[in-house]
Amino acid sequence: MIVETAMDSLTITSWMREIDASMRLERDHLVQLDAAIGDGDHGTNMVRGFDAVVQALTESGAAPPGKLLILTGRTLVNTVGGASGPLWGSALRSGGRVLGDEPAFDGRQLVEVLEAALASIKDLGTASLGDKTMVDALEPAIDALREGVEAGRSLPEALDLATQAAEAGMRATTPLQARKGRASYLGERSVGHQDPGATSTALIIRALQRAITAGS
Ligand code: ADP
Ligand code: MG
Repeated sequence: MIVETAMDSLTITSWMREIDASMRLERDHLVQLDAAIGDGDHGTNMVRGFDAVVQALTESGAAPPGKLLILTGRTLVNTVGGASGPLWGSALRSGGRVLGDEPAFDGRQLVEVLEAALASIKDLGTASLGDKTMVDALEPAIDALREGVEAGRSLPEALDLATQAAEAGMRATTPLQARKGRASYLGERSVGHQDPGATSTALIIRALQRAITAGS
């Protein structure tokens, strides 16, 4: 029997804590990746942003999960200077709006939240699949999650498949030439390096998988 995993505000808080912990662990790696094809601040950007998110969530009173995602997005926009701040910030605000004031959400709603987040990133950054950005990890992850949920898999299992898809998408950025963001200024010299934003995106999906597996 498949027991539906119910998610709520605690899921959002533990997702953000998991992201913060993994950004701290991977900070230097993300900095190195960004130093190769950007300006070397991606690791510090993500740590600064998610440290502030954890702080903001700790200080906020009880609120529904959608409102916590909106607070998360607003905090990222306000604390991260690089492109990744406004992109993830607007993404999570859009995702939060999907949930409105609902106290809990299920797997299908989680897919809708992430779809809205991706749409917002593509809208703001005008990147498509294959442009060597965070989209290359996020889009395949959402496709895998949707397929898993629709096939009736448990949420931890569907998120495991989503994590694998995000990591495959991340690795697939290496041979690509960047067409968006700072790395695109390098032209052909961006080929042969893994995209930092796709790398942190795979960490964000893995963190979601951990938060939901721990809570179910
Ligand atoms: P900055 O490039 O401003 O220094 P970061 O280093 O924090 O910002 O983030 C860089 C990452 O942001 C890139 O690796 C890429 O994945 C992502 N990115 C940059 N521009 C775009 C865009 N237009 N659309 C989607 N993602 C983008
Ligand atoms: Mg940078």
